Amino acid sequence: MLQLKLAPRVLFDYYVASSAEEAVSYLSAHQGEARVVAGGTQLLPQIQQGELTAGYLVDVAQIAALRKLSMAPEGLVIGSAISLSRLVTHEKLASRCPLLPEAARSIGTPALQRLATVGGNVASGWGNSDVALALLALDAEAEITDYMGSQWVPIRSLYVGGGHSRVDATREVLSAVRFRPLARGQGSAIVRLEPAGRHGRADLVGVTIVELTPGPNGTAWPEVSWAAVALGLASEPPQRHGDIEQALLGAPWPVARGLLSDGVRDVLAAVDASHPANQRLDEAVVLLAACWERACQRASAAMSAASRGDA
Ligand SMILES: Cc1cc2nc3c(=O)[nH]c(=O)nc-3n(C[C@H](O)[C@H](O)[C@H](O)COP(=O)(O)OP(=O)(O)OC[C@H]3O[C@@H](n4cnc5c(N)ncnc54)[C@H](O)[C@@H]3O)c2cc1C
Repeated sequence: MLQLKLAPRVLFDYYVASSAEEAVSYLSAHQGEARVVAGGTQLLPQIQQGELTAGYLVDVAQIAALRKLSMAPEGLVIGSAISLSRLVTHEKLASRCPLLPEAARSIGTPALQRLATVGGNVASGWGNSDVALALLALDAEAEITDYMGSQWVPIRSLYVGGGHSRVDATREVLSAVRFRPLARGQGSAIVRLEPAGRHGRADLVGVTIVELTPGPNGTAWPEVSWAAVALGLASEPPQRHGDIEQALLGAPWPVARGLLSDGVRDVLAAVDASHPANQRLDEAVVLLAACWERACQRASAAMSAASRGDA
């Protein structure tokens, strides 16, 4: 066990776990006094600033089983301790699900991406966490391990708002996430409404995934056969907007862009008037329309490749 001096007045015991089960039994032995740490990019500043206290930290970032990326019958499984920089550079991921590398690349600096993990991005519970929002749009599930064992739960069930998640990091370890990679003919994109004059989390993150099918005749625009629209605001739980998704179905892609803009405008106009995403509403709507356009262009390219029979 290491002793970590994090601030002049706080001295932690720091335990490096070698399995999720070992981490959970350490947490259990310390009865709410210990907390999971992964990259520490969010937690350690919070502790230093006195926003959170933890007498003990259990490091899960070195657990080999949590640093694996594999293909299972249920989909792609990404260990929670995989760093954002590994998402950015992973070749298989770039071809199977480019949305995740794109989301990871937009977070902080390369130095931060080397430390920050997928599990930390999800468990921290912020609505505007880029990778977590992409996972929500992908209908991902999270594996939660506690002293009773492990279970898979939908990521969407983990959010409560205000930068909190249902993952109790004093008792549980988020071990992995899994999701179906993009199907042939689907395209995705992510956009960020960057905060004015400062670095850090975006005021709004938006993700669109679209599946197109050829229009009724050869010259018509392709139509939307499936769509996912997810919006993430700092203070709110990240959300999929099923009503917008439904409205887009069957619409030719440019018509759908207008419907999406209307839906996004309604959603953002309804959030607190002081929220930057509301105050910068026109900018946000244009950004989401661009996100939609990019996802459609990618879906169209994927549809053409599929019809040519490209691998
Ligand atoms: C300058 C700066 C800019 C940032 N910009 C962005 C941004 O643009 N977008 C963005 O999404 N994030 C941003 N972040 C936040 C943060 O870096 C990321 O969300 C990161 O992915 C958190 O991962 P981590 O491994 O460092 O988590 P940690 O800091 O280790 O942990 C975060 C929280 O999750 C819990 N936790 C971590 N792993 C697990 C696990 N496996 N099981 C259970 N609980 C766990 C911890 O107890 C803690 O409460 C930024 C941070 C900084 C400092």
